[in-house]
Amino acid sequence: MAENFRDNEARERFELDVEGYTAFVTYRISSGAITLVHTEVPPELGGKGVGSKLARATLDAVRAQERKLTVECDFIRNFMTKHAEYNDLLAPGQTTHTNAATYKACCFCGAVEVEASGAPVFAGYCHCADCQAWSAAPVNAFSLWKSGDVRVTKGASDIGTYNKTENSYRKFCKTCGGHIMTEHPRMRLTDVYANLLRGYTHQPTLHVNYASKTLSVKDGLPKYADFPADLGGTGEKLPD
Ligand SMILES: [Zn+2]
Ligand SMILES: [Zn+2]
Repeated sequence: MAENFRDNEARERFELDVEGYTAFVTYRISSGAITLVHTEVPPELGGKGVGSKLARATLDAVRAQERKLTVECDFIRNFMTKHAEYNDLLAPGQTTHTNAATYKACCFCGAVEVEASGAPVFAGYCHCADCQAWSAAPVNAFSLWKSGDVRVTKGASDIGTYNKTENSYRKFCKTCGGHIMTEHPRMRLTDVYANLLRGYTHQPTLHVNYASKTLSVKDGLPKYADFPADLGGTGEKLPD
């Protein structure tokens, strides 16, 4: 398999081409230090060890560049905990252990457990017809996390998936029917239902798809007819 690894400085990412697809690690540079932010391996390259090859090539490049390393990316962090030979690259005070807050969620029967770490990118309430129909409830309290920050920690084989559209892959427990999360692959975000996350305080900042509401919520938060403009919507707001 033909492979090509490079440091694409213009896009601030290390790239590995394999079979016509590109896996990459994004980074930030500041005064002699480099922060590895996020790793992505196209699904077409899954199960071929491409992620490990990319991690190794990236860390070798960081070593050759003699930069001090900080790691925000969970994938690279996990790789480094298994490959201690790279730990000397870390900037003083940095470890591969995460201090990020971690929250667990489980399905209704407890067969499936997931974990989200860090903080959600967005949190709010969705009033769309699909959320209503799927949850059999008027409102879905969502917390959207970077997909890389969400892991299944128990019962992966008990998870069923249903996607009516390519935007939303809804995950549920095959034993109890309890809902767990919805993956949004195009946004690279995963909605872990706020009410399931133990120890997490839901801090909603908006309501989306309020045009199709069946329940009015007078909480003073912005009510978007569909989505804010920076999430690809019209940005139109409606009264409480
Ligand atoms: Zn269950
Ligand atoms: Zn919805």
